[in-house]
Amino acid sequence: MASPTPGPTPTRTLNDGSTLPAVGLGTYGLTGEEGVAAITSALEAGYRLLDTAVNYENESEVGEAIRRSGLPREQVQVTSKLPGRDHAYDDAVASVHGSLERLGLEYLDLHLIHWPNPSKDRYAEAWRALVDLQKQGLVRSVGVSNFTEAHLTRIIEESGVTPAVNQIELHPYFPQEQMRAVNARLGILTEAWSPLGKRQAPFTEPPVADAAAAHGVSPGQVILRWQLQLGTLPIPKSATPARQRENLDVFGFELTDAEMAAITALGRPDGRLFGGDPDVHEEA
Ligand code: NAP
Repeated sequence: MASPTPGPTPTRTLNDGSTLPAVGLGTYGLTGEEGVAAITSALEAGYRLLDTAVNYENESEVGEAIRRSGLPREQVQVTSKLPGRDHAYDDAVASVHGSLERLGLEYLDLHLIHWPNPSKDRYAEAWRALVDLQKQGLVRSVGVSNFTEAHLTRIIEESGVTPAVNQIELHPYFPQEQMRAVNARLGILTEAWSPLGKRQAPFTEPPVADAAAAHGVSPGQVILRWQLQLGTLPIPKSATPARQRENLDVFGFELTDAEMAAITALGRPDGRLFGGDPDVHEEA
């Protein structure tokens, strides 16, 4: 569905006082010259939050797209993520310096611990490093990804610092009611990864398709609107300019309580896309 380029995206305020655009661009898989072109097109469409990670191996593409867009640095917010192999304190510090070098930036807006890797039991050490890097101004906001309540509680108790963001798998087949409540209680913003459900997106499920027809929008827009009304910050990935614009154009309609409930009811216990259970998943 063709959408005009939308206006400025509303923002969300984090527990450290910073703000983030309410929708960001996921960049997993956007690599090489095609990746730079796709990210540049997203910036032209109005995206002001880019989500990358060391393990996506595209931080240099993200930096190049920002430069190519001509936008002032302070108008674009960049999130990257610390890989599992870099949880030791000194490795975490070196890893963030490496991210900044590849991005060609002097600071990151948000840096997350990508996965807790609890079997290694070093995520609390990685968290201390991120908190110190924030004090040095190299990272504006610090957060985590794929953390459970137990992981969150531990780092908050040990450091006295609450993550600004917890980025978790969240889509209609896995709506994460419990983790959304945990994050909310702790004052942590929930970001949704694979917010559309990726290739298994429930675009043809009746609650999604019916709402799309009722509001005259696409199924993707319905799912992203569902995310916003849940209070999450979605970071949909698209390499397609028309879909990039469509995915930002989700502020002009509202789902009813019944539509929201019907989409959430698509959730199922085994709804994870690849079985990424944070208690056991090992991320290199
Ligand atoms: P996603 O955003 O849920 O889905 C992306 C897929 O949907 C692509 O194939 C895209 O195709 C298609 N698409 C996008 N907009 C659409 C629309 N309006 N209608 C129909 N199809 C549409 O999946 P994701 O890339 O896995 O997740 C998003 C981001 O989350 C990632 O890029 C990454 O930044 C982050 N992430 C984080 C973690 C973590 O552990 N923290 C894990 C996974 C992902 P086209 O590109 O062809 O348009």
